[in-house]
Amino acid sequence: MPRSVLDCLVIGGGPAGLTAAIYLARYRRRFQVVDAGRSRAVLIPTSHNHAGFPEGINGRVLLGRMTEQARKYGAHIVPGSVTRLERRPDGVFLATLDGEPIPARTILLATGVVDREPELPAVSDVIRRGLVRHCGICDGYEAMGQRVGVIGQGNSGLHEALFLRTYASDITLLSLGRPLTLTAEERRQAAQAEIAVVEEPVRRVVVEGDQVRALNMLSGVCRSFDVLYAALGSAARSELVRGLDTHLDDKGCVVTDEHQRSSTDGLFAAGDVVRSLDQISVAMGQAAIAATAIHNRLRGVPSPREAPDDTLSFSPQDLCTCCSPLDARRR
Ligand SMILES: Cc1cc2nc3c(=O)[nH]c(=O)nc-3n(C[C@H](O)[C@H](O)[C@H](O)COP(=O)(O)OP(=O)(O)OC[C@H]3O[C@@H](n4cnc5c(N)ncnc54)[C@H](O)[C@@H]3O)c2cc1C
Repeated sequence: MPRSVLDCLVIGGGPAGLTAAIYLARYRRRFQVVDAGRSRAVLIPTSHNHAGFPEGINGRVLLGRMTEQARKYGAHIVPGSVTRLERRPDGVFLATLDGEPIPARTILLATGVVDREPELPAVSDVIRRGLVRHCGICDGYEAMGQRVGVIGQGNSGLHEALFLRTYASDITLLSLGRPLTLTAEERRQAAQAEIAVVEEPVRRVVVEGDQVRALNMLSGVCRSFDVLYAALGSAARSELVRGLDTHLDDKGCVVTDEHQRSSTDGLFAAGDVVRSLDQISVAMGQAAIAATAIHNRLRGVPSPREAPDDTLSFSPQDLCTCCSPLDARRR
């Protein structure tokens, strides 16, 4: 028997996907969230910059609360990985999950990004234990007055080091034996900000308790740090939409308009996978906008929860594609 057509398939269940789930459930839409369970938020020991939590909040706890809230309104969240996304000639998307196609009128891509990790000895252990940080915007404040090592080969490493200069005066940029691809002007900027530059490889990472205490360099010199930041960039998880000719930027992030619409009709995106600031609050805000735009796009098409069957024909031209009733009134 063919599967019924969803109003929306949300791909990804991090802060963006779960926020969309809360909104879509409260809009009484028929949708599903598929999540592969690798949210970056899971790696957050305590977030101190997420509004509403003066004592900070653990990333896993936050995701748990959001899941509970979405389920309270009937959201269907299933574990798994969507491996393929295509579009039928009638405009309905077909997502493949466990070899089965899921048809949906709209897609919200909320798949996030993957951080590029440093090539350190025993790196997976260090990262799993959260001893290397990834985001100065998130926790630079907590590095106030500390000895900071920033791992980065290009100007993104330098930018992170300069950003962290607001909080710490003892900053070293480490290239781990790779050539630092900085221009003369960028090297001058580093020197002016008193950022030390070390380009030799690391022989051993010295972990003490829950901190990376030092890096033993190949030359035998031991360099001590209170905090290490990886600034090697990230890769957007946008492979699914490559076959849909969706407009991506040079980093593979989805380019959206102010309603989180991509260049592919019916495909929306929110969170880190979108070209914007990679923060929980941004992911949540974009997801709220996207879910509302999806709901308004489908208004006029009876919700399948109320429809007698799932044979509704969908013609985007007939529908309001703007986000809010206010926009519609203004036109
Ligand atoms: C160490 C660390 C600390 C951070 N600290 C903070 C902080 O203090 N404050 C802050 O605002 N931000 C912080 N961030 C950033 C924050 O985690 C991200 O901005 C946020 O998680 C983005 O949410 P998202 O939903 O877009 O993506 P994610 O949270 O990464 O979720 C994406 C989800 O999509 C799933 N997925 C991907 N592909 C598929 C597929 N094909 N099928 C099904 N599911 C799929 C993934 O498995 C994942 O579960 C931190 C990040 C890191 C790494």
